[in-house]
Amino acid sequence: MLKQCKLCGEPASVRVPYARLSLCPKHFTEYVERHVRNTIKRYKLIKSGDRVVLAISGGKDSLALLHILNNLRGEVGFELSALNIDLGIRKDDYSLKAVQISEKYCRELGVELAKVDMKRDFGFTIDEVFSSNHVRRPICSSCGVIKRYVTNKVAVELGANSLATGHNLDDESAVLLSNYVKADIDLLVRSGPMLPSRGERMVSRIKPLYETSEKETTLYNFFKGIQHLEQKCPYASGASTLRLKEVVNALEEEWVGSKIALVRSFNKKIKPILAEHYSKNSKDIDLCEACGYPTSTKICSFCRLKKSVSKNC
Ligand SMILES: [Zn+2]
Ligand SMILES: [Zn+2]
Repeated sequence: MLKQCKLCGEPASVRVPYARLSLCPKHFTEYVERHVRNTIKRYKLIKSGDRVVLAISGGKDSLALLHILNNLRGEVGFELSALNIDLGIRKDDYSLKAVQISEKYCRELGVELAKVDMKRDFGFTIDEVFSSNHVRRPICSSCGVIKRYVTNKVAVELGANSLATGHNLDDESAVLLSNYVKADIDLLVRSGPMLPSRGERMVSRIKPLYETSEKETTLYNFFKGIQHLEQKCPYASGASTLRLKEVVNALEEEWVGSKIALVRSFNKKIKPILAEHYSKNSKDIDLCEACGYPTSTKICSFCRLKKSVSKNC
């Protein structure tokens, strides 16, 4: 049962079980911001003087993170700008709505927004990838290739030190569990709250919500009155990720704090061992012969995807 806010005595609206705290809306949103601040500190994600570009999709996690980073930028002393990609998904006006929401909140907060339009800037859209007869990858995997490539390229062009994304604790613990089960060493080594740059034309990728749960970002937005894009991507099936998240949340119910324990113990104890192994066996990073951005093959996966789509035209 909810009691009084531990900090001010007002009626509490939220219980944070792993922290054993009952909090009112104001103190809950402050708690989430402090929690993200501690994650940034714990994993040394951002340092004073950094230029951080945040990729925003209009969804709940990236919009919560936009507000949280905006509140922290003075205290930590970093520059913040945002980046949105119009993927060109026409169904239900999905991309249009995502762009509009991103613009609205960046304008409100005074955060500069770099806008990428896939059709205008790269000549193709996700709709075209989907309807192409020459692309073999599943659509969500192609979308992942596009997002990784474009966000890195824009962040490099903006002179950023790092690119922040809204991946949360539920995403990360679920993926971690699945990679453990499959013993996918490559993916395990490349997971974590920070992926450092591995050479030129590559920025570090950081996940400040690494220890913040989906429930916390949802409630944060609710109490702050932030209206994120509720609608899911029309192409996303997401069934397997959803099931995995149910599994980690069932574990959390049985064993309070297990999601955080899972990601923390991985980073502290397992990842250093894997990273050492990987550094001896990893492929070298080269620059793509077509676009000049990092790749481990001659032509990067983005350029190959673009070429497959253009075969249709
Ligand atoms: Zn309170
Ligand atoms: Zn390329």
